[in-house]
Amino acid sequence: MSDLRSDDLRAEAEALDSRDELAAKRKEFALDDTVYLDGNSLGALPAHVPARLAEVMTHEWGKLRIRSWEESGWWTAPERIGDRIAPLVGAAPGQIVVGDSTSVNVFKALVAAVRMAREGREGREGREGRDEIVVDATTFPTDGYIAESAARLTGCRLIPVAPGDVPGVLGERTAAVLLNHADYRTGRLHDLPGLTAAVHAAGALVVWDLCHTAGALPVGLDAHGVDLAVGCTYKYLNGGPGSPAYLYVREALQPRFDSPLPGWNSHAEPFGMRPAFEAADGALRGRVGTPDILSMLALEAALDVWDGVSVDDVRAKSLALTDFFLRCVGAYVPQGEVESLTPAAHGERGSQVALRCEGAGDVMRRLVERGVVGDFRAPDVLRFGFTPLYVSFADAERAARVLAETLG
Ligand SMILES: *Cc1c(COP(=O)(O)O)cnc(C)c1O
Repeated sequence: MSDLRSDDLRAEAEALDSRDELAAKRKEFALDDTVYLDGNSLGALPAHVPARLAEVMTHEWGKLRIRSWEESGWWTAPERIGDRIAPLVGAAPGQIVVGDSTSVNVFKALVAAVRMAREGREGREGREGRDEIVVDATTFPTDGYIAESAARLTGCRLIPVAPGDVPGVLGERTAAVLLNHADYRTGRLHDLPGLTAAVHAAGALVVWDLCHTAGALPVGLDAHGVDLAVGCTYKYLNGGPGSPAYLYVREALQPRFDSPLPGWNSHAEPFGMRPAFEAADGALRGRVGTPDILSMLALEAALDVWDGVSVDDVRAKSLALTDFFLRCVGAYVPQGEVESLTPAAHGERGSQVALRCEGAGDVMRRLVERGVVGDFRAPDVLRFGFTPLYVSFADAERAARVLAETLG
């Protein structure tokens, strides 16, 4: 690498950082001088969360004890926090509940989608013949495993196809389609509006997994008529390790949402302790059992970092960061050593850069030792996640430079 080029790129990074309106957000996080490019796996800790959790433990649990279910708002936390996530994914209030893992929510959403599809969409006449579930063949594994089980349970045939090929397999037999908004391995962004419209044209329902897009780019759930969606909160939403996931059920579908996991928390009258199940109204139907309060309230506090942040600004910075990182990699890394799997077109790019590289596992281990933290995905992918609230252009330049040195 020529020092001249590196001087230029460092100067450019500095200029970009000085113009970055989100730059001040970084100090709201507990970070050191590590280049942290793994926020697409575990978001960084917002610095105020430990104090809030300490208060929950010592005051709400420690002093108020059981009174906190009412007095500290514990009972209503799943829907209250759902409404905090809603604007980040383009949803009006009352359609999201927080709780359980993404895996569990994929199960609820997909089985419920098949059940609704068989009744006909939006109350159209019944379509008993719908016996196929289409799933992204390149999906994050848990979604695929659960889709396979959901298919067996509902008597459906599972059809795994690449997202781009979904329109070609849709038809009268399609009940539901499960798709990832962005590919976890390559960072490719899939066409949510177009694929949602195609699924609807076939009379089926679509479930979107937003794990790699919520908090990274505008999703527009309501605007695009998405039926159901799920996502985790520990990646771009910084909720903390194992923080609860969320489930979105479009308002018009809520009366027909028939959860395969009806619990006492989704009952119309939870404290009636009735032997027969009667579903609550609205998004509450997505609840199951007692909410995971400590993780949930850590998430609620973590969401404060989004106050006053526009998702459009986050998206603009994300694209600028990934563009700049790719340019730095192009300038520093000798040709042929790495190959970008992430689409160059902005419309097809999520918020990460995936580089295929020989010995990627070993390369990532050495990068981490040198203070550049990304991750490795088998068999040969280096993944770098760009979280615009706390990653700088200087971070992107340094990551590319250290990568070149590591490979050299
Ligand atoms: C991270 C991720 C998950 C994680 O599921 P958990 O149940 O939280 O372990 C699921 N699906 C996708 C697409 C993911 O990226």
